Amino acid sequence: MKLHEFQAKELFSRYGIPTQRGIVIARPEDIDGLDVPYPVVVKAQVLVGGRGKAGGIKLAKTPAEAKQHAQAILGMSIKGEVVRRLLIAEAAEIQAEYYLAFTLDRQARQMVAIASASGGIDIEEVARTTPERIVKRHVDAFIGFQPFQSRELATGIGLRENHLTAFAGIAANLYRLAVQEEAELVEINPLAVADGKLLAVDAKVILDDSAAFRHPDRPPTEEETELERAARQADLSYVELDGDLAIIGNGAGLVMSTLDVVAQFGGRPANFLDVGGGATTENMAAAMEIALRKPGVRALYINIFGGITRCDDIARAIAVRPLRVPIAVRLTGTNEAEGRRLLEAAGIHAFLDAEEAAREAVRLAGEVVS
Ligand code: GDP
Ligand code: MN
Repeated sequence: MKLHEFQAKELFSRYGIPTQRGIVIARPEDIDGLDVPYPVVVKAQVLVGGRGKAGGIKLAKTPAEAKQHAQAILGMSIKGEVVRRLLIAEAAEIQAEYYLAFTLDRQARQMVAIASASGGIDIEEVARTTPERIVKRHVDAFIGFQPFQSRELATGIGLRENHLTAFAGIAANLYRLAVQEEAELVEINPLAVADGKLLAVDAKVILDDSAAFRHPDRPPTEEETELERAARQADLSYVELDGDLAIIGNGAGLVMSTLDVVAQFGGRPANFLDVGGGATTENMAAAMEIALRKPGVRALYINIFGGITRCDDIARAIAVRPLRVPIAVRLTGTNEAEGRRLLEAAGIHAFLDAEEAAREAVRLAGEVVS
């Protein structure tokens, strides 16, 4: 599980790694009356790197300026992730940027410390272009990360003598964090020299999910919507979108292609549910209930290609429901004849062709068919 920067920085503080003070907000208005000294840095909280390059990190000298940046960054999409929260932190006056991380070297079956003189740049890029600027030291799990290794890393990246003690402290704490929290990666990029002191300006932590049971206090993965939770409890995979046509299919590939075809006909999916292989009548009924609970849904498209899933089981769920919206059904495969008979008896026409059905679904949702 990847942590957001603000969550990773909370961990850093707990482990005595110096970071800037900051507050998380979700609306530009929240800037008013914030108790942070200016200038501040406005930072998009999304789980992807390269936020700075994408325009998701901006410095602001005044609250008015911070508000402008907040307006621009909130709602922005960075590598496909929509920004819903911002970290407003005291801006650091950066004199130099370094890189420091601990990660699991699976081949060596050891943690490895990685440091670089080129901070603020993607470490993969440094490895490609200037590998000589990267220093690595493996950590013996039984004796832990040693102070002499800190010194070797620090001198290897050309850190000034007066920062050595602080660097050793940060590295030791970062290693302790990685071990105690059971992380796969802990990364500070950049580890900056600001106001003459070392400071973690960015924080990245990836926790080992297989160890989650030992850490009941870990933050919740991602906030779930009510419908996402209902779907998870019913063992269905559900994704919420913002259109008005609900979509149910069986199998991830089929559902993905269904979304494409619907989009091609000008439809806007409201959500999609994958009932998976071998869905029963009950699974299907639960899926329909969840898909239609979303406000603003104007039609439902059910695309089933029966394999292990039996068309008659699916049809039973569709046929018994009085639905609040019109539906288009594509049904083919195992027990198709029986499935179609059940639907016809309930006055529902089932398409054989997925494209025709998609076109009909889009029409029902009141969209343009092109
Ligand atoms: P990333 O782009 O997602 O890795 O986000 P970072 O938090 O690492 O920020 C990217 C870059 O923005 C950093 O390498 C810095 O150069 C710059 N930056 C971030 N925070 C500050 C700050 O407080 N002060 C200054 N001067 N620059 C900052
Ligand atoms: Mn960074």
